[in-house]
Amino acid sequence: MMYKTHLATSITAGMVFAKLLSYPFTIGYLGGVAIGSLLPDIDHPNSFIGRRSFGISNVIYNTFGHRGITHSLILWFVLLMLLSLHNNYFTIGIALGYLFHILGDFFSRSGVPLLHPYTKNRFRFFITYRTSSYAELLIFYLSIALGLLFVINNEEFITPLVHSLVNLLNYLVHTIIKFIEK
Ligand SMILES: [Zn+2]
Repeated sequence: MMYKTHLATSITAGMVFAKLLSYPFTIGYLGGVAIGSLLPDIDHPNSFIGRRSFGISNVIYNTFGHRGITHSLILWFVLLMLLSLHNNYFTIGIALGYLFHILGDFFSRSGVPLLHPYTKNRFRFFITYRTSSYAELLIFYLSIALGLLFVINNEEFITPLVHSLVNLLNYLVHTIIKFIEK
């Protein structure tokens, strides 16, 4: 799955989760989901996140290969435990986004090693799409359409999102001003 499809599917899934579990729909939570949805592909130097990983992805790629340990539910569980030490909606978002990424690749033809390092066998759903195919493009546009529909039908989501975005911008501007004044 391409990074933009991971982003679109994960953010839409994240919105549905927020609704179901009454999570605050904030930029912190959504940002967490977005980051989490990109993280597993740090095992590929040419991926969106790999190219921005300051060489970390080269090390992971050379050690485990692409779609190795970072696409494992076992590693996800370890990550979940670590993130729960700093339990907030940002870290919950990261954990969810990461899981949505693994799930997204689980539906792809090449599958994912869900139980790596226990077994390197790859698992996949019985209906699959091929990465970068028209089917994936369809998934991408469908996710965006569903996400937009969801926001339109859940107006209560818009206020906390705008609020948290303004707060974040406010914080950033203040930090920058403080930095300049020093
Ligand atoms: Zn992946």
